[in-house]
Amino acid sequence: MDSRNVRTDKRGGICFRVDDNKPIRQWVEFAEVFDRYGFKFCAALCPGRMAGDEDYTSLVRSLQDRGHEIMDHTPLHSVDKLPLPQGADADAWRAMPGVDHVDATRVYLTYAPIHAASLTEYRADVSGNLMTARTPQDLNDANQTRFIAVYLPQTGSVFRFRQIERSGDVVLALRSFWDEDNVDLGELRDVAYHKLSKADVRMTLDARRLLAESSLKLFENLGLDRPLTWIQPGSGGCSDFWRGDVKSCFGDLYGYVAAATYPDRSLKCFNEDDPGGDKCFGMQWGDFNDEARDLDWNLKRIADGIAGHRVLIGHSHFWEHVMPDDWEGYLERVDGILAWCKANRVPVRTYSKWAEVLYRSTPDPNVNVIPELNVDLNGDGVPDGYDIRSAELVQSSGVPDANGAFLSVQNAGTICKVDRLGGLEKGANTFSVWISGQPGDSIEATFGFFEVETTETLAFSVKNPEWTEQRATVGIPDGASQVNISIECTHTGGGILKIGRMRLKAHC
Ligand SMILES: [Zn+2]
Repeated sequence: MDSRNVRTDKRGGICFRVDDNKPIRQWVEFAEVFDRYGFKFCAALCPGRMAGDEDYTSLVRSLQDRGHEIMDHTPLHSVDKLPLPQGADADAWRAMPGVDHVDATRVYLTYAPIHAASLTEYRADVSGNLMTARTPQDLNDANQTRFIAVYLPQTGSVFRFRQIERSGDVVLALRSFWDEDNVDLGELRDVAYHKLSKADVRMTLDARRLLAESSLKLFENLGLDRPLTWIQPGSGGCSDFWRGDVKSCFGDLYGYVAAATYPDRSLKCFNEDDPGGDKCFGMQWGDFNDEARDLDWNLKRIADGIAGHRVLIGHSHFWEHVMPDDWEGYLERVDGILAWCKANRVPVRTYSKWAEVLYRSTPDPNVNVIPELNVDLNGDGVPDGYDIRSAELVQSSGVPDANGAFLSVQNAGTICKVDRLGGLEKGANTFSVWISGQPGDSIEATFGFFEVETTETLAFSVKNPEWTEQRATVGIPDGASQVNISIECTHTGGGILKIGRMRLKAHC
């Protein structure tokens, strides 16, 4: 079925995601909150960690039966190893493409050759498993993401490490790519090495295939529905997948429809530029934080995001130590967000549903994408999606075009900004704005297409004191998914300048 024909109204919304195999009690209580409203959440689970646990499996089954989305968080929260299936022929596994080695319980997967040409070269001495930089301090910046492993071209291998402090300098105790303590390189003098980030290391296609097949098999054996979404584990090996690598394996070969990746995450807005058809595999979380931030903080983020035609994904590990108000407070906050969504008709959908709405449906091009000045879903006195600068928001029934709110300024300066506005239609668009002021007053609207580094500015001047709608054309460049809009007052004669409803939509 070609769902491209389905039209949407560019209404953004939210998605709740919780990662890892958390205790049953937490899932049960969390699900009760959602079931109260009929909303669905997403759980990223590791099927290799629930095998043999009947209670856990039946909990997951009941979540799936109620429409919550169970996502593939890899078999063992790792992109570089798998559980060796019970009774499996280890030698047969050893010979499989994508397998580096096998031990009694695990299968260790292969990584792709490192492209060192684009990486800075450093030099070191190695003795056994201890690596010392030729230039002191070179190894002192190790961290979990940007410098998680080293590549020694002379050995053709990637090594993880533990840091050891030796008289103020960091020495690395090298470990295998799979974090095994089995490295002995003998004596190497003045050898080249490169620092690797998680995004520099890629697993081979064969390894990725085994990851997908292992997960699908495990879900099947547990009597669960297959997952449709793949979620990169944050602390599971030293490779962060790129969305294209997820698409080419999990999407193209195994029917997954969505994923979360870190290095090239997508923007999750309507009409997102998507030449490779892989943005649905870059849907990372953390746009709001139900776990660690209070209700008002979350509602502001969500209200602004929806006004910008974006989809926001929450963040939770059910970590009670980061909850400002303990577990009960957390459940209340989630209840508060859901009640607010229900009251304001804010869609709450799962990953796979949002992937379809955002990336496989066609939005209505006639929708105005500029947020309305009279919409303030989170009730903080600021119109959603706006950053109001040197202007006053006035509610009045005397404004034409029926939305009852305008911005009033007396001096030149920035009136307001709308950042990261999505839902754009490529090509010629009409921008319109209602203005009232003294003849000679003027404003400028600047459109910053930050992804393609171009800017377009439209100037408007007041010709008579009556409310007047002025229009001009702005071209949305190819490659632009979002725009930052700034409205400036460039001149007033000392009187009041008023800005009413603004619109941006494709030429019909
Ligand atoms: Zn995780």
